[in-house]
Amino acid sequence: MTDESVLDEGRDFIRDIVAADLASGKHSGVVTRFPPEPNGYLHLGHAKSIFLNFGLAQEFGGRCHLRFDDTNPAKEEQEYIDAIERDVRWLGFDWGTNLFYASDYFEQLYAWAQDLIRSGKAYVDDQSQAEIRLTRGTLTEPGQNSPFRDRSVEENLDLFARMRAGEFPNGTRVLRAKIDMTSGNINMRDPVLYRILHAHHPRTGREWNIYPSYDFAHGQSDAIENITHSICTLEFADHRPLYDWFLDNLPVPSHPRQYEFARLNVTHTLLSKRVLTQLVRDGHVSAWDDPRMPTLAGLRRRGVPAEALREFVKRIGVAKANSTVDIGMFDFAIRETLNRTAQRRMAVLKPLKVVIENYPEGPSELLEAVNHPDDPSLGVRQIPFGRELYIERDDFMEDPPKKFFRLAPGREVRLRYAYFITCKEVIKDANGEVVELRCTYDPATRGGNAPDGRKVKATIHWVSATEGVPAEVRLYSLLFSAPQPDAANFAEQINPESLEVLTGSVVEPALAGDNDPAAMQFERQGYFCRDRDSTPGKLVFNRTVGLRDTWAKVASEG
Ligand code: ATP
Ligand code: MG
Repeated sequence: MTDESVLDEGRDFIRDIVAADLASGKHSGVVTRFPPEPNGYLHLGHAKSIFLNFGLAQEFGGRCHLRFDDTNPAKEEQEYIDAIERDVRWLGFDWGTNLFYASDYFEQLYAWAQDLIRSGKAYVDDQSQAEIRLTRGTLTEPGQNSPFRDRSVEENLDLFARMRAGEFPNGTRVLRAKIDMTSGNINMRDPVLYRILHAHHPRTGREWNIYPSYDFAHGQSDAIENITHSICTLEFADHRPLYDWFLDNLPVPSHPRQYEFARLNVTHTLLSKRVLTQLVRDGHVSAWDDPRMPTLAGLRRRGVPAEALREFVKRIGVAKANSTVDIGMFDFAIRETLNRTAQRRMAVLKPLKVVIENYPEGPSELLEAVNHPDDPSLGVRQIPFGRELYIERDDFMEDPPKKFFRLAPGREVRLRYAYFITCKEVIKDANGEVVELRCTYDPATRGGNAPDGRKVKATIHWVSATEGVPAEVRLYSLLFSAPQPDAANFAEQINPESLEVLTGSVVEPALAGDNDPAAMQFERQGYFCRDRDSTPGKLVFNRTVGLRDTWAKVASEG
């Protein structure tokens, strides 16, 4: 995932270019921009671009603009604008007063298009989209000139004005640059500058009936905002000659330089707004912030801290060659961050009842538990312990194999922060299923150690059956089991087991009063956070990530 362009952590070819441009005096300050199109929610790939653009501005004392590339009202919505702002802020960045929209420049862009017409460098083409596509040529064949290419300046200005005024239906005419239909670079074969689109725009309403193309809007917006380094992904390298052609042929106030870096690709993940939109629209997931989604909203809802994204992006670096990052690296960054910061709690996901026969009936006692084993500043809490408890069903086996050290008939284990208990009797229902364990405890082992020095081989977690709080726990796994899902047939590749809902879980009472959305570690289980579906009467938790890399094991075994 790295190449020679990554010099060391926090250093890469783009940072080198910026540093050199500042050192040589070419620029007195760095100005970057993050230019999302508001046609969907941001995903993990966008985070890479955000950390790079906003990060550069921070590191070099410059500024980064948030610019909405709102040139296609057919697909853009205010909901997406709001979501994008929320997500960029969540990652820790603030654009201050530097919030812009390509639509702010529609009037200027229109005037510049007229300038191109006047200098004979643009024309109105009456061909259909299909005809334009057919006559564009291929990588090996040149394109053919449009029969409308040599219209007079006057006719072009007139038609262009009437396109703007809404005289013509969608798709009947376009404005094209007049460059070179034989160019080796297909982007230079008279690219489309404007298309007719009678649509309501979230910001300009019905004011416009024509909208500029990405290529025509992007570089000129950069120039208007005095962007110094316009950073985009590698697919745009072939657009760079066009980016420069516009800036060279228009009276723009500055001439930014475009630089390309490798987009982020992650195994088992599709980072494409088109696919993510379909997943939501077709109901494959519950919403844009479904915790299985690689959207920033989904990751946040799953409990992934922004700091883990920062850590991940820093580790993968900024390279010039495309590659695919193993999703295990992302999970690793999440685990590492949460291991440092997350408070510990106890929760029993699949409960099995335990009755401690020699524990007095009546009121429970409180036992002390640390909130973080390595960070005493996070303090301690009191957990109620009593005669009736729940332990994890998986922590008991009636007939254990050799390597199973947890609870079994006749065996003694430690209950975390509590006592040693010994299993005396197994109670089954009519189907032979174990429904309860009768145990005894050793009162001398309070706090979890035996005064006589005897040892137990396992420590298991537990929750009081009378004071524990019922909860639903949602366990997520990969949305796509294939390491390289195919974006063209993604629906067929969705993992039918990507969501498992446990409705009978029990959590320690401290979790009921806690409204903190930050992820916690459920001891021995993984990291979990409270979901926004929680209500006063019903707690819901999402598994952020397990404690260990279980999927990699499954993948290699499978
Ligand atoms: P998608 O490919 O998901 O549809 P997009 O490129 O169309 O995304 P934009 O809103 O245009 O989405 O992207 C805004 C910025 O984020 C662009 O500068 C783009 O280069 C960058 N970006 C998008 N996807 C990635 C990615 N996977 N890795 C790095 N940067 C990305
Ligand atoms: Mg794009």
